[in-house]
Amino acid sequence: GCDAAAVAALLRAGAATIAEHRVELTDLDRPIGDSDHGENLNRGFTAVVSTLDTAVPETPGGVLKLAATTLISKVGGAAGPLYGTAFLRAATTLGDKSELDAASVVAALQAALAGVVARGKADVGDATMVDALSPAAAAAEASENNGIAGLLAAAADAADQGAQSTVPLVARKGRASYLGERSVGHLDPGARSTALLLRAFAEAVR
Ligand code: ADP
Ligand code: MG
Ligand code: MG
Repeated sequence: GCDAAAVAALLRAGAATIAEHRVELTDLDRPIGDSDHGENLNRGFTAVVSTLDTAVPETPGGVLKLAATTLISKVGGAAGPLYGTAFLRAATTLGDKSELDAASVVAALQAALAGVVARGKADVGDATMVDALSPAAAAAEASENNGIAGLLAAAADAADQGAQSTVPLVARKGRASYLGERSVGHLDPGARSTALLLRAFAEAVR
């Protein structure tokens, strides 16, 4: 089962991968943005780990809600409210369940996607994190019978592919959209960070 401590462990793994890929994410944000995506996320996830060091809430939803509020207050930019909303919607969907099953993890990913879309109004193909998260949520649903580890692995694979799919696209949302056609040929940093987080969650789940 996936209880609050297990979800906290996933977030710690996510924080570790963001720290490890901080420079890469900021480098991706340089040609099409303002060179801060890695720093923004690392600041936020470092704060998430600090709050979890103090106390872990009793439920998976409580852990995700704490992560959401921390990310909203620490990340800033476009990604802060978007990731914050993703984690907040996931938390709300889980309610006060004490253990997650595969179906609830799928529901959480779908809620996260719906939150990002509601907040940022990006469609698939606009070269944003939605291009990673949308196929990830679909793949998770299709792999629900494979258990939490299996569905998260499928989600991470789909997110990797979805992130790569942003390279030839014209960005239509966020700072990269200011470049118009000149945004073509670049991997979207937010799509990359989404894929990295999902991979970390898939590898850390037990
Ligand atoms: P900022 O652009 O404010 O500096 P970040 O660099 O931290 O913020 O994050 C940029 C990422 O946010 C982009 O790569 C993209 O994936 C995502 N993003 C920006 N705007 C939107 C949006 N409207 N919908 C979904 N994702 C978005
Ligand atoms: Mg930026
Ligand atoms: Mg910025």
